[in-house]
Amino acid sequence: MSYTDLEYEIFARQFILKNFNEINIQKLSDAKIAIIGLGGIGCPLSQYLVSSGLKNITFFDGDRIEKTNLGRQILYSLDDIGEYKSINAKNRLLKTNPNCNITAYSENLTKKNINVLSDADIIIDTSDDWHLSKLINTFCVKNSLQYIFSSAINNNIQICLFKNQDNHTCLNCVFPNDEDVELARCDTVGISSICAGIAGLVTAQKTINTILKINDENNILSLINSENLSISNIKIKNNADCALNNG
Ligand SMILES: [Zn+2]
Repeated sequence: MSYTDLEYEIFARQFILKNFNEINIQKLSDAKIAIIGLGGIGCPLSQYLVSSGLKNITFFDGDRIEKTNLGRQILYSLDDIGEYKSINAKNRLLKTNPNCNITAYSENLTKKNINVLSDADIIIDTSDDWHLSKLINTFCVKNSLQYIFSSAINNNIQICLFKNQDNHTCLNCVFPNDEDVELARCDTVGISSICAGIAGLVTAQKTINTILKINDENNILSLINSENLSISNIKIKNNADCALNNG
């Protein structure tokens, strides 16, 4: 797949940049991305990926839009209350680039339907659901798929890309919690709107860095405080005791 004249016009200013040469523009137009969760991170993430020229995208989110979402889930408005997030987000993003190929599932990702993601180049998890993150991580390890875990709570962001290609290092290596651990969630502890936005944008940049091989993001855990604007990039190491590590 390549870009139409309209798309070249939409992305003209970005395509001036040296990293957007002909080869990389082709990579961008061919890349297949899946985004799990169209919430506070998924909204800015998907908007900026589409605004950067990504066009083959699959969405999974079974939630409908509520008023409490509007403070940070920037694709939605008061007129959209009660609609499915995934369908609404798709329609909104097609207004930025009508040539996008977006598949929107208005259901949650589960063991039963996760196999439709087996041809994704990168699966991005913004689900804010620890059990679901564990499921996606296991799927990506077993199928050697690139996985980005992206989470934000209060003013704190954690983002990491696991390539799952050479030596084993995965989300479970870093956070080997049992499946039944109850972690803090945004709906109980709270989240800054800007924090969610920054998480979405940093995740978008890591996605593009990976597709275009601009920067090696593999196994780099970025810890960001969106209030004092501190960023730490920590190299994650293999955990020999990880249950998913088969050597
Ligand atoms: Zn592991």
